[in-house]
Amino acid sequence: MDKKNYKYIYGPVPSWRLGSSLGIDPLSVKDKVCPFDCVYCQIGKTKCLTDKRKIFVKTEDIITEFKSLPPLEIDYITFSGTGEPTLAKNLGEMIKEIKKIKKQDTKIAVLTNSALLNDKTVREDLFSADFVAAKLDAVQDDIFQAVNKPMKNLKLETIIKTIKKFKNDYNGNSLCKLCLCRTIKNTRKNSDARRAKLFRMKFSLTLRFARKELNR
Ligand code: SF4
Repeated sequence: MDKKNYKYIYGPVPSWRLGSSLGIDPLSVKDKVCPFDCVYCQIGKTKCLTDKRKIFVKTEDIITEFKSLPPLEIDYITFSGTGEPTLAKNLGEMIKEIKKIKKQDTKIAVLTNSALLNDKTVREDLFSADFVAAKLDAVQDDIFQAVNKPMKNLKLETIIKTIKKFKNDYNGNSLCKLCLCRTIKNTRKNSDARRAKLFRMKFSLTLRFARKELNR
């Protein structure tokens, strides 16, 4: 696939979890938009910290681009990209429209940081996907603040509660992504060894607790 011709679609990329995954970026912005500013973010610092949903790309523009793709062998179409995909107010509409034209055996996934799951419209949008990976990096507020650097109004307790709610209400496959261990190590590599050790200990406890907490 020639990248130059596509503004909103990228890949396909191999994913250990999803197989061959074609990415759709429902934000497609120059500067990342996200309610978090994670220390490990591959896109860099969040300049636009927001939890307000809006339309970034018209659904019809995504559909037009999707229809122009060459024939591809893919397992998943994954909504992800330059920030938090659930910020796109038309995410649910995009998923539904893509479903009408995709190959029958190709599934749809969304990768989310879980920050907006408290919003009923976000949960409803995600119900249309076949697979949702909801991220949770910490269940202790100090770690959450240090690693995800969230907007002030976002409360970890609410996020955990709504991940659980979503998990119970959702018919598709969901996965709570816990992905921090190496990050803590890396971000702490310049701080003194004692502090880093403390953080790692705290994190492994966090992981165990998170699994327990979410399986309740
Ligand atoms: S949630 Fe994702 S996009 Fe947002 S800052 Fe963190 S890693 Fe980057």
